[in-house]
Amino acid sequence: MSTSDNPNLADLQPETLAVRGGRPDGQLSMAPVLWASTTYEMGTLEEGRQLAHSTQAKKFYSRHGNPTVNAFESAVAELEGAQAARAYASGMGAIAGVILGLCSKGDHIVAQKQLYGGTMQLLAGVCPRFGIDVTFVDGTVPGAFSQAIIPGRTMLVFAETPANPLLDLVDLDELGAIAGPITVVDATLATPLGVRPLDYGVNLVVHSATKAMAGHNDATLGVVSGERDLIDALWAFAVLQGACASPFDALNGLRGLRTLAPRLRQQGATAVAVGRALESHPAVNWVRHPGLESHPQFALGQRQYRMHGGVLSFDLAGGLEAGSTFVSAVKLCRPATSLGGPETLVTHPASTTHAGMTSEELSDCGITGGTVRLSCGLEHVDDIIADILQAL
Ligand SMILES: *Cc1c(COP(=O)(O)O)cnc(C)c1O
Repeated sequence: MSTSDNPNLADLQPETLAVRGGRPDGQLSMAPVLWASTTYEMGTLEEGRQLAHSTQAKKFYSRHGNPTVNAFESAVAELEGAQAARAYASGMGAIAGVILGLCSKGDHIVAQKQLYGGTMQLLAGVCPRFGIDVTFVDGTVPGAFSQAIIPGRTMLVFAETPANPLLDLVDLDELGAIAGPITVVDATLATPLGVRPLDYGVNLVVHSATKAMAGHNDATLGVVSGERDLIDALWAFAVLQGACASPFDALNGLRGLRTLAPRLRQQGATAVAVGRALESHPAVNWVRHPGLESHPQFALGQRQYRMHGGVLSFDLAGGLEAGSTFVSAVKLCRPATSLGGPETLVTHPASTTHAGMTSEELSDCGITGGTVRLSCGLEHVDDIIADILQAL
């Protein structure tokens, strides 16, 4: 965990922060240093006792903290405009850490129904087992979150925007204005360069840094940012939960942040170009990307995001058969789950990311057998479009 104490940070653009963040004082190497050690010699027993209870001990034991992981956390905190951040072994590690770290038996959660499949399974399947009730709402409907809050019982309000896989948006002004429960946003698809939910008054922002932040399909990593008191409270559960980030993955996460801005910008532009090509194709029912004028919340997307990522979804008129045929017919694009990496990936949500959901839950979220999610990579846009058109 880390604080950002450089007084000039507010003057710097996010792109610059991404390049300069997470460099411990006195470290002269340009690349992050990999601290593999799990443990450190301590001076006196009293020193050890203090370290064991310190949320900011970098050199005590790796499940508590680690200098390489700490460098990543400090870079993310700076990018989010947060007091502190805590990294986890995965995005789900972070999400489970927030939900189970803050909620107890008898508590209530208001969550969006448009959610990443794993988050949905945790909220709908695991939370009830621990006596935590969850109410799901449509995050695109104004007032939906606040209307579902039960005063005195609702502990968390959980949103995801843009939501995976249909790119639904949540109005962060509205979410940030909620008082009482702790508000949480999964902003994985936007990254901190797309939006800083904490600026809107949201309490915690979580990311699967496995995706665009690390950006090269070589790190499984999650991170939560917010006020120090909240992150300290999460830390106390996280050291017992044990989903601590690996130093190697944190190193790759930090490496990814350096180039996040140009990658995201190019992937976003590619997604819009691909979207336009698909919109005019007869085999396609609809295309969703927040950068396309056809997105039902286009105006909100323009207002809320500095840049959009490379994920877009589209629906094939031929349903399940067309969906699975398309995924096996692409040649340049790779059929694989995940997003935000250099390679363009195609996913069939109904049979992969959202496979754990029932068909009613799927159709409630607007996902059909013909829905395809595309994560635009860094290949030339013309090659990506040519591959998609031949597969159609
Ligand atoms: C992938 C993803 C997650 C889960 O992250 P992992 O690193 O795979 O655990 C959570 N939320 C969103 C929006 C995601 O895309």
